[in-house]
Amino acid sequence: MFRKILFLVVFLQCVARIFSQTNCPILPTPVTIQTQTETIFLQNEISVDSANLNENLFKQLQFLAKSYHSSSIVYSKSNPLIVFKKLINVKQDSYSINVNDRIIISYSSERSCYYAIHSLMQLIQNKNNELTITKCFVHDYPNFKWRGLHLDVARHFFTVEEVKRYIDLMAVYKYNTFHWHLTDDQGWRIEIKKYPKLTEIGAWRDSTVENHYSTNPRTYEHKRYGGFYTQEQIKEVVQYAAERYVTIVPEIEMPGHARAALAAYPELSCTGKQQGVEGLWGVFDDIFCSKEESIVFLQDVLAEVVTLFPGHYVHIGGDEAPKSRWKECSKCQKVIQDNHLKDEHELQSYFIRRMDQFLTEKGKKLIGWDEILEGGLSPNAAVMSWRGFEGGIEAAKQGHYVVMSPGSHCYFDHYQGKSKNEPLAIGGYTPLEKVYDFNPVPKEMNVDQASFILGGQANLWTEYIPNFKQLEYMVYPRAIALSQALWCVKKPSYETFLTTLVSSHFPILNRWNVNYAKSILKPSMKTIRTKDGVEIQLKSTELKNGKLSEKSDSFPISRTKKKVKTNRIPIAWYNGNGTIAYDTMSITNHLGLGANLNFITKPSPKYFDSDVILVDGQFGSRPWKGNEWIGFDKDSIVIEVDLGKKRKIKGIELSFLQDEGSWIHAPEMISIETISPKNGMNVGMAQSPPLDGYAPYPEKWEFDFKSKVEKIRFTIYGIGVIPMGLPGEGNVPWTFMDELIIK
Ligand SMILES: [Zn+2]
Repeated sequence: MFRKILFLVVFLQCVARIFSQTNCPILPTPVTIQTQTETIFLQNEISVDSANLNENLFKQLQFLAKSYHSSSIVYSKSNPLIVFKKLINVKQDSYSINVNDRIIISYSSERSCYYAIHSLMQLIQNKNNELTITKCFVHDYPNFKWRGLHLDVARHFFTVEEVKRYIDLMAVYKYNTFHWHLTDDQGWRIEIKKYPKLTEIGAWRDSTVENHYSTNPRTYEHKRYGGFYTQEQIKEVVQYAAERYVTIVPEIEMPGHARAALAAYPELSCTGKQQGVEGLWGVFDDIFCSKEESIVFLQDVLAEVVTLFPGHYVHIGGDEAPKSRWKECSKCQKVIQDNHLKDEHELQSYFIRRMDQFLTEKGKKLIGWDEILEGGLSPNAAVMSWRGFEGGIEAAKQGHYVVMSPGSHCYFDHYQGKSKNEPLAIGGYTPLEKVYDFNPVPKEMNVDQASFILGGQANLWTEYIPNFKQLEYMVYPRAIALSQALWCVKKPSYETFLTTLVSSHFPILNRWNVNYAKSILKPSMKTIRTKDGVEIQLKSTELKNGKLSEKSDSFPISRTKKKVKTNRIPIAWYNGNGTIAYDTMSITNHLGLGANLNFITKPSPKYFDSDVILVDGQFGSRPWKGNEWIGFDKDSIVIEVDLGKKRKIKGIELSFLQDEGSWIHAPEMISIETISPKNGMNVGMAQSPPLDGYAPYPEKWEFDFKSKVEKIRFTIYGIGVIPMGLPGEGNVPWTFMDELIIK
């Protein structure tokens, strides 16, 4: 009964061009690779003249030969296969590999020698238990200085062994910065000798929210959860990372995201109220008070932190700190007066400046999330831009160093596939191709400003990542795509990358039992508008004999001329492994299916994939994913629907999303004007009944009226500003719509 599937095989352009990046198995792709056709065979024991390698590099070489190929490294002075040469006066962190009858590795720094070893291991191929390498020349160096991955160990805790594996994997892809998010509302994870209660009390919570935090009603798992790293363990991880040329940037969050610390030392808050370590995700009002005692406390904490982490940067957070407690606190208000500050934003700036001075005295440099720009940025501070590129652009204009990690491209806690089979995530949609497109230097920057961009980083917040298997799933292969964006001077096409990824790197990850996501091999589904309805297009990618092929299939659906009808449509697709999968999808067919829309109010580009989403017969899912809803950041929204010709309609139904935690609110009022084909006049009007107070308003709005119309105009009035006491109070809320049904 399933529709016969048509094959449409499009071989992606992977024509083997000698002397190019195209058939290069190394990721991130090197600057230059010149390949010959001749191949040499390697013994399982690889002989090396290690005279120019230090002890650590030799140890790493042995370890990597074993883990990539189960081969062993033996020392040979007389007739070695691999020779290492240290060069001086060449580009920083550059290396080259010359594979001929002998393999010569030249490097400028220990770090680049380590990168060369990974590249060499990726050049070696294992076919039927025979190790081979094609004669070639590789020359390589990184484009950006800061190539970072972040890990939040507060929302969920990861053991020392797991953190080491995280570092091992990032080192494979030539990342050099590990941003360790050690404290947050839900747990304090680093031992501080002067304040033992931080880990005795602050490292443990009594409950954890279940499901998505927007689920109503909320339920909790009432189980003690937590953990922390002793200072000895921290030193061990720092050393482990250093051996892999990864620098750790510790993060101690302040003044917000402080509930775990305040559970241990409530006197450091504005109210002094005793509260537990938080078991819910979100942004909380209780933050560090800005009084001198809190500042001294945090400086004491930083004093211990700087002795543990030899790296240059210390991250102090600075994001999402609501100012409601500071406004009501006499001590905070006194700090404002005594220091002639304008408001609470300048108070936050003062707070961060005190930390900046302290860290500068200790020979360190402060970095924080882009909110530290508000109220004026400390002179020495660097900015990590997460809310978009804008904060980073502003900071660079002011002459501060910047790391770009915008949510749009670099948040690996977002969904990576459209499939409903993706595991629960916080929201958002950041597929592999989007990550690949990332460029830390926005187009509008001039050369001078661009010189302040240190690089980029992906962030991994772990609210919905309870274990390491899930962590690997969210990070890989997206971290590999990001390594291209940060390392490559000129990255190859996405298709070339995808071919290398699937054919050369999925096998490496398989060998290491990495639980990477295969979402790119799952079919992608897209709905397009047709003349009389919509068409659902399925596309899947398959790897066969080293070549990627794409298969596609399509299902046209004509719009109904009668009643609204929900159909289950059988669909089938090719899995990456060659098998066929079957499923059904639900399509609500209505008079407006695929109708033309005119957005007089433009949706936010952040939550706007395609305008047909609103009339594609598919309801946006809950918990919401950005690509299934259309989001507006305006208070009133005007949209016109064009039915193409005069039609008899019986009513209209509109659905919205209510998710207070994400600042998304259903509207307060909707008015509908129907437009006659004759003279363009409004011939009918429907308006929602007035509702009393803040309910919240309903997610589903139904209007019943009979009319003959060609066009319908909706004016949707939002609630204006988010009411007091709710997350984002005082701001204009988001309005999320899907679907618009015409009966
Ligand atoms: Zn206070």
